[in-house]
Amino acid sequence: MEEPKPSRSVAVVLYTAMGAGHLLPMVELAKLFLRRGFVVTIAVPTTPGPATTGSPTIAGIAASNPSITFHHLPPPVCADPDPHPLMRMLQMLRLSVPSLVSLLRSIPSVAALFLDIFCAEAIDAAAALRLPAYIYFTSAAGAMAASLSLTRHYSTTTTSLRDMGKAPLRFPGLPPIPASDMPSTVQDREDRIYRTRARLNARAMEASGLLLNTYEWLEARAVGALREGACFTDYPMPPVYCVGPLVANGEEEEETERHACLAWLDVQPARSVVFLCFGSLGSFSAAQLKEIACGLESSGHRFLWVVRNPRQDPTNLLERLPEPDLAALLPEGFLERTSEIGMVVKSWAPQAKVLNHAATGAFVTHCGWNSTLEGVTAGVPLLCWPLYAEQRLNKVLIVEEMKVGVVVDGYDEEIVSAEEVEAKVRLVMESNEGEKLRERLAVARAKAVEALAEEGPSRVAYDEFLDRLVRSD
Ligand code: UDP
Repeated sequence: MEEPKPSRSVAVVLYTAMGAGHLLPMVELAKLFLRRGFVVTIAVPTTPGPATTGSPTIAGIAASNPSITFHHLPPPVCADPDPHPLMRMLQMLRLSVPSLVSLLRSIPSVAALFLDIFCAEAIDAAAALRLPAYIYFTSAAGAMAASLSLTRHYSTTTTSLRDMGKAPLRFPGLPPIPASDMPSTVQDREDRIYRTRARLNARAMEASGLLLNTYEWLEARAVGALREGACFTDYPMPPVYCVGPLVANGEEEEETERHACLAWLDVQPARSVVFLCFGSLGSFSAAQLKEIACGLESSGHRFLWVVRNPRQDPTNLLERLPEPDLAALLPEGFLERTSEIGMVVKSWAPQAKVLNHAATGAFVTHCGWNSTLEGVTAGVPLLCWPLYAEQRLNKVLIVEEMKVGVVVDGYDEEIVSAEEVEAKVRLVMESNEGEKLRERLAVARAKAVEALAEEGPSRVAYDEFLDRLVRSD
């Protein structure tokens, strides 16, 4: 069947939040539009976003994607900057809406505006120009379902999640979620961050549709609950389109300078290496780094480990971390003793490439949604060690619903012991349970490939969405 293809001059504008977990999947969505002949602009806000050493910069991403225009919105005037980093980012995204309107006016033939959920207030910009607005949700369908269901839950009770301990929340389309595994920002119903998030969700319901970076097979029940409007009752649910998994697999990227860890992987046996990487912001205390090192060493397995410097203030995710002094942070002699079987990389590794390398056999992850999708599409079992944002919730989905990972116990305590690190590495790398996980991952990976094939469910959903968009033009 011939795909709906607009003329070369039809444009779309994508408004991204900052941070690798928001920006990178937005770029993947942009590539999808480019393939269908749209002119794509990504509106980039000037916000105090995270800046991890080695993480891709806008300039770098723009250089590798010359067909996408990256438009920097000017820093908005802000008389009363919010002291909380996340609230400040949301405030800046909202205050940048007038600049977004100017941008939209300056681009001919804009067909639609696409918004990160953090940018949902910019629905007003689309309304000002009578354009359709769509939300592109860069986390799990399950996270969206849980977030909407929580608003409903809070309307039926006076208790906050933080008073419920591990009591299970039973939300439509989801496995039971221990209340303590919901994001810290929604634990207190009176918290202004929770209220702001709830407002953004409500605004998202005004959109012409929700594009989810997932695939139906992986999250069938959550997607079903969203479609049926079972999670949220105040407004009708917009149409839901699962267009994922939209993740870089590392193949398309130019290899100007191949990272040394890839050369190291080249000489390791197939599926023998445990990869440890904790998103764009994850970092551990010196004590925790030592436990991880001891656990890895006693497991005897090969490893590739991305280590960041500990934070001075563990709650400030925006703190710029210096390069770690590995010899000082890791146990004495660790680097020398493990030099034959392990590699430690400072701050940042080309994760997608590592996960898709034949030598990678397991992934210790913080359960960010992009990392989860990258692990699943590479067919690598996940060892779940959630740290911040909605990662504890993702952990529940990964283990209980998708069944593609195991939990690293103690993630919710002060420290995860070396014994636990060793035990879970052995479980995934050596046991029957690990073998079963690998079989499950092989199916999940095949289903992801199928979803993205020309006639696959995610491409069909995207084309259906595009068809409606082009017709409403
Ligand atoms: N990432 C990477 N190298 C690193 C750390 C992270 O390439 O050393 C990439 C990772 O592949 C993913 C993104 O950064 O695409 C992190 O997004 P995710 O949603 O997993 O987590 P977040 O950083 O938002 O917590």
